[in-house]
Amino acid sequence: MRNPDVVVIGAGFGGLAAALRLAELGADVVLCETLRYPGGCASTFTRSGYQFEAGATLFSGLGDGQLFSKWNDKWDLGVRFDPLDPLVELRTNQWSLAVPPDPKTFVRRFGELPGANPEALSRFFGTQRRVADALWKLFEDPTLLPPLNGSSIVRHLGRSLSYGPVVRWMGRPLSDVVSQHGLGGWQPLRVYLDAVSQITVQASSAEAEAPFAMAAVDYFFRGTGHVHGGIGSLAWALTEAIERAGGTVLLANRVRGIHREDGVWRIDTRNGELRAETVVANVLPHSLSGMTKPKMNGALRDVEASVESGWGAAMLYLAVDSNAVRGPEAHHLQLIDDDSAPFVEGNHVFCSVSAANERERAPAGQRTVTVSTHIPMRKLIGLDAENQEAYVAAVQNRMRKTIGQRAPELIDHATFQMTASPRTFARFTGRHLGYVGGVPRRVGLKHYRPRALWPREASPGLYLVGDSVLLGQSTLAVALGGVRTADQIAARG
Ligand SMILES: Cc1cc2nc3c(=O)[nH]c(=O)nc-3n(C[C@H](O)[C@H](O)[C@H](O)COP(=O)(O)OP(=O)(O)OC[C@H]3O[C@@H](n4cnc5c(N)ncnc54)[C@H](O)[C@@H]3O)c2cc1C
Repeated sequence: MRNPDVVVIGAGFGGLAAALRLAELGADVVLCETLRYPGGCASTFTRSGYQFEAGATLFSGLGDGQLFSKWNDKWDLGVRFDPLDPLVELRTNQWSLAVPPDPKTFVRRFGELPGANPEALSRFFGTQRRVADALWKLFEDPTLLPPLNGSSIVRHLGRSLSYGPVVRWMGRPLSDVVSQHGLGGWQPLRVYLDAVSQITVQASSAEAEAPFAMAAVDYFFRGTGHVHGGIGSLAWALTEAIERAGGTVLLANRVRGIHREDGVWRIDTRNGELRAETVVANVLPHSLSGMTKPKMNGALRDVEASVESGWGAAMLYLAVDSNAVRGPEAHHLQLIDDDSAPFVEGNHVFCSVSAANERERAPAGQRTVTVSTHIPMRKLIGLDAENQEAYVAAVQNRMRKTIGQRAPELIDHATFQMTASPRTFARFTGRHLGYVGGVPRRVGLKHYRPRALWPREASPGLYLVGDSVLLGQSTLAVALGGVRTADQIAARG
């Protein structure tokens, strides 16, 4: 039996980041992953000769000085980050908008759409950027998040003026900010913000907590790019960095249970037992509650309830004729069929097309495409098994219809198709019932409570990381959360 300092359960980006940071800080860390490959919802899997990104496709934190870029340099990961221009192209029935990498060009281009008021639009994005700048500085330097020490309090005081616009919009929906700038009736802005908010803070602009949503609107402009070879190549590179830093990565090694015994944790895995004082669990709170003995008696119930207010995903994985697709670069299309209906259940899809020169991802002359849409889990769970299957199939058909309307090149020239559902995510990544994408940031002051701001230990020496807890909701956010948790563990010695 091995006795490392820390066992990390799950090699999603939350677990990978926590393990790498712990190893960097000198801890003897063992990372156990149930699958044969790392990355979880942000992995690349192989099927029928194609390599598909499983869920996440648009990566941030790749800019100079940002987390993944720093690790790429420090550990010589050799991962290639390709810039994107446009970052994303949004297509509706009336207009389309190619989002360029420069935010000023973006606002100018947006102001050229029919019916725009460029001055009001510029003022709105000015407010949005001030809030985003204040919050991204916190995200990028999580030492500023609780628990605070003397130095972080002094730095907060130095920044207090920049928090003014954040405080002003706390507890209000993003749509209030739009109305305040006189833009409430302008359809393109509402559609753009609904589309971006749905894929980031997991709520429409009328529902989304304004400061979080305004920060998320900046997601495209914060070191966003394409990971050459698929997002999984970064996950694999991080596993190698963990091993070079002295840690151990055990793939195909499911953790079956963790038991508190004599003041330490006994971790029962597929390939034997481990004992450690500290466990970092990169799984949903439901899974952690289920595997922990003695039972935690509802200690994570509030986190579980937040997850249950969220979403599942329906997926299409396509291969297409490379010549039918726009340009040779990797690119992303956000497609909306009916802009007056909610941007879920196939009415709104996010499509990510691989680059022509990613030869390993598809046979010559073909490209792979990952397409996702949101599934409201309460609705799905309310159906019996037979109707669940029919409902998911109907959503997948709706996805095909939306693609057919807005990007027919992807469906008319498809050479291969396969589908996935919440059940697939539950089966492969162990996500309870297939909840994915993190906790929706719906309007409310609850997001700022100290309990919500930083996860306490679920039990002595047992920490939860990943998209159910802060920072949550994207590969970069879960990785930053993993780093912060590792720092907290190391600080306790
Ligand atoms: C369809 C979709 C599209 C998305 N698009 C984007 C995007 O474009 N950009 C972006 O940044 N984010 C995106 N996201 C969100 C992003 O993928 C997630 O927020 C992030 O990857 C979650 O990481 P995690 O570490 O919290 O969890 P996970 O990725 O779920 O990782 C958990 C890991 O734990 C493993 N595991 C589970 N149980 C056990 C066990 N018992 N023992 C050992 N291992 C176990 C799983 O196999 C998995 O590898 C998307 C998500 C989805 C579903």
